[in-house]
Amino acid sequence: MEKRVYLDWNATTPLRREVREAMAAAWNAGGNPSSVHAEGRRARGLVEDARAVVAAAIGGESRNVIFTSGGTEANALALAPGTLSRSGQTIERLVVSAVEHASVLAGGRFMPDRTAILPVHRSGLVNLEALRAMLANEPPALVSVMLANNETGAIQPIAAIADLVHVAGGLLHVDAVQAFGKIDFTIKGLSADLVSVSAHKIGGPTGIGALILAADLTSPAALIRGGGQERGRRAGTENVPAIAGFGAAVTAAIAARDEDMPRVEALRNRLEQGLRQTQGNAGRGVIFSAEVARLPNTTLFGVPGLKAETAIIGFDLEGIAVSSGSACSSGKIQPSHVLEAMGYGPDIAKSAIRFSLGWETTEEDVDRALKAWRKLAGALLRGHETVLERF
Ligand code: PLP
Repeated sequence: MEKRVYLDWNATTPLRREVREAMAAAWNAGGNPSSVHAEGRRARGLVEDARAVVAAAIGGESRNVIFTSGGTEANALALAPGTLSRSGQTIERLVVSAVEHASVLAGGRFMPDRTAILPVHRSGLVNLEALRAMLANEPPALVSVMLANNETGAIQPIAAIADLVHVAGGLLHVDAVQAFGKIDFTIKGLSADLVSVSAHKIGGPTGIGALILAADLTSPAALIRGGGQERGRRAGTENVPAIAGFGAAVTAAIAARDEDMPRVEALRNRLEQGLRQTQGNAGRGVIFSAEVARLPNTTLFGVPGLKAETAIIGFDLEGIAVSSGSACSSGKIQPSHVLEAMGYGPDIAKSAIRFSLGWETTEEDVDRALKAWRKLAGALLRGHETVLERF
């Protein structure tokens, strides 16, 4: 049987060898980081080493890294009303971009009537004029805009957004779950106040992530209270093996990034060239957000009339794992809320297929995906010629 081709790295990534080793060592070491004996101190050492690695990776400070159960919890913790602005005012208003991950769109503990949705342009980038208007003559807001979108890969102009937010006295949370390890950034460079990251997008385990605070920011109120771990900001005995694995993943991802990402980008470009050239679809298919800076590994591709659900099953039968931009937990494909926010109609929004590549992706993998697409496209698009002509 031919080897499977995994092109769904934005969903999750394979565990890196170094991560497996670090996690096995942590499991074998045992100990509770809160215990004072040697076993406890050893576990504490593993947690603090990983914390320092995560902090250094984005130019933050160790004491400002709060380990969480993943990106979702980091986002929820960031969006805790009652967070203090730098002037000491309590922030009671939330503004989130329309293309955020569901965990941000959910709004944390903000009430829906205190949450406003920031529109985006057709490119997927946030509308800065709209943001300016939303912030004017209003109490300070907590604004949440992701660094890179999980569906399109579009990279937001975070520094410009931060300027507007800070001038208005607010705070900026950046969900950097997809950007972390793929592009180089620092919390200072972004001028962000809170940044969310997650381990399983960079070769670490699922179920571990972190919220990192800017140096001078008061912590948001804890979501989980109890034993005082994480300086009282997130209670519960630390998941030491996962945290050690997270640290190992960050070290490996950053060390390999400058070599891996240009190679991944070249493969992604090869894929896009192939998609654009495919048979009768030339010029009709769309690569979303292609006109703006994107992550080097992501392609969101759609053709009006195509049903992503059917296409994904077709790819799967050909041995290729791809996804739609947005599968809900039942696995049923909804029209992408990201594409809808970008102004695309349901017909094309339902057609979007996401190819996301990673450090183990090869040229052969890309060529197999293209071969499968050429085989599938004819059958999947038959009967949609009129739609195609109109597009
Ligand atoms: N934010 C973004 C942009 C994501 O892509 C994801 C994961 O898909 C998350 C947050 C949630 O992260 P986690 O799976 O660690 O909860």
